[in-house]
Amino acid sequence: MQIPKFAFHKLLVLLVSSQYFRQASTAPLQLPNKVCQKAGVAILGAGVAGITTAQALSNASLTDFVILEYLPRVGGRVAHTDFGRKPDGSPYLVELGANWVQGLGTPPGPENPIWTLAKKYQLANTYSDYDSIETFNETGAVDFTGLLDEYEDAFTTFGQDAGYILTDNLQDRTARSGLSLAGWKPEKDPAAQAAEWWSYDFEYANPPEQASHEFTAINYVGEDFQYAA
Ligand SMILES: Cc1cc2nc3c(=O)[nH]c(=O)nc-3n(C[C@H](O)[C@H](O)[C@H](O)COP(=O)(O)OP(=O)(O)OC[C@H]3O[C@@H](n4cnc5c(N)ncnc54)[C@H](O)[C@@H]3O)c2cc1C
Repeated sequence: MQIPKFAFHKLLVLLVSSQYFRQASTAPLQLPNKVCQKAGVAILGAGVAGITTAQALSNASLTDFVILEYLPRVGGRVAHTDFGRKPDGSPYLVELGANWVQGLGTPPGPENPIWTLAKKYQLANTYSDYDSIETFNETGAVDFTGLLDEYEDAFTTFGQDAGYILTDNLQDRTARSGLSLAGWKPEKDPAAQAAEWWSYDFEYANPPEQASHEFTAINYVGEDFQYAA
């Protein structure tokens, strides 16, 4: 594969050789060559998908591949940074992207491969109990978790409606419209808006106004049920 010189200057090319995967180390990547002349397989992006692809090739003894990565690091949306200071002066480490292994997998179904990796490398983790939530308003602790249940009920209808959009080949709409048609109308209730933020914006990184009804449902199904525990 020929990489033009002008592209090389704009695109940081991590030429990750199969040797890197054999070493399986966290050492900084070495650039074996400045220009890749030829490769059997070009993997675009060194996020978890690209790295997994490379690992699969390496496991199958296919070593003639190259990963092209724009950023000066691997990991893509799995990334962390230092934040603030602990009492001992060292920085806290916070995740900027993926934090949770969602859905571990239930036998006899497949195990979530990220969970397999987490166990292999003995990652410290904490179980997130989404049924144990405390809610507050400007006066202090106020229980409005019932609104989370109301949202969930509307979201069930929302999911069914997404199915009709797909099977009947209907016009997609915003997730906001879909939620409203499903009976969820939080406009005049700040507590409902907080419940919606927790249930929607926090999960999908966009407000419902900026997202598709259909693809919210697809995202939800893919994320929550593929390895649903
Ligand atoms: C804030 C946040 C929180 C998340 N929380 C979770 C979570 O808790 N649990 C979970 O399972 N998932 C979570 N995710 C999702 C998860 O991080 C992603 O699904 C996953 O990391 C995507 O991996 P990927 O390899 O498909 O893509 P990416 O990680 O996006 O990797 C793509 C790579 O390709 C590179 N690239 C793109 N275009 C080019 C180009 N033209 N040339 C060269 N390189 C290019 C990018 O720089 C990037 O490194 C979260 C995501 C975000 C943003």
